[in-house]
Amino acid sequence: VFFLLPASLCFDVYYYTRSWIIFKLNSAPEHHEIRVKDVQRQVREWNINSEAVPMCTARPGWQSISFREAAYKKAFHKIQINMVDILEIDTDEMTVRCEPLVTMGQLTHTLTELGWTIPVVPEMDDLTIGGLVMGTGIETSSHKMGLFQHICVAYELVVADGSVLMCSETENRDLFYSVPWSYGTLGFLTAVKIKIIPAQRFVRVEYKPCYSLDDIVKTFTQETTKVEGNQFVEGVMYSLHSGVVMTANMCTAAHPGQVIL
Ligand SMILES: Cc1cc2nc3c(=O)[nH]c(=O)nc-3n(C[C@H](O)[C@H](O)[C@H](O)COP(=O)(O)OP(=O)(O)OC[C@H]3O[C@@H](n4cnc5c(N)ncnc54)[C@H](O)[C@@H]3O)c2cc1C
Repeated sequence: VFFLLPASLCFDVYYYTRSWIIFKLNSAPEHHEIRVKDVQRQVREWNINSEAVPMCTARPGWQSISFREAAYKKAFHKIQINMVDILEIDTDEMTVRCEPLVTMGQLTHTLTELGWTIPVVPEMDDLTIGGLVMGTGIETSSHKMGLFQHICVAYELVVADGSVLMCSETENRDLFYSVPWSYGTLGFLTAVKIKIIPAQRFVRVEYKPCYSLDDIVKTFTQETTKVEGNQFVEGVMYSLHSGVVMTANMCTAAHPGQVIL
């Protein structure tokens, strides 16, 4: 409590301030190229010196939002990918381009200030774009918008020979569809282009209490398969026989007395 919480707060303040300054100065794209070249250099050096040992990202297990210890990393050749910046927001194309260590908190704070969001927002602030692409990501809008990879339109990777590959629906299509769930086995992710949508100021939530397992399954199925509305659907079980299904939609105004900020 006395060390971890203050240390974590200081780290968050440093991290968000740094991203904000870099974004405002619009200097990140220039640094991105340099950072990609640095990843390429490390991979090429691995090819010359230590190919017998597999590569992995140098990110330590304690930084990952996972219960797994990632002990395998100890014996692997570590590649530093310190890429933490939002590179470009294109409101005409309705996309945002990010580096892999951009977190959900960082991205949503930046986008919502500008009136935008991404269609699937995995709920923990510290989840990273890289982890959500290479593993997978899901959230309460996924019944309509799909998994995290379904809102991604292009990836940039450094592959095992040190070259940079871009992939999308129209370029290196097979690679584009193989990247999600690949857990870093196809290359190091260095940038991702993601769809954005307009964000409204409020979300109106409705709670539907359920008092049996059949009831909650029926309600959840009905609400997730509705064609109109229900941008977000979530369910919580309190016991085997009681739970609640929550449905929600973005809205521009809220009624006084019904707002939880
Ligand atoms: C309490 C809790 C709540 C959670 N809530 C949600 C949720 O709401 N929605 C959801 O979708 N998930 C949730 N998760 C699961 C979470 O999505 C996964 O644990 C995710 O993989 C963690 O992301 P990370 O950013 O820490 O990535 P990591 O665990 O660091 O990475 C995941 C994988 O991607 C690879 N990888 C990462 N970056 C790169 C890169 N640049 N190049 C190549 N490979 C790379 C890693 O090697 C690893 O194999 C939750 C997990 C926990 C513990």
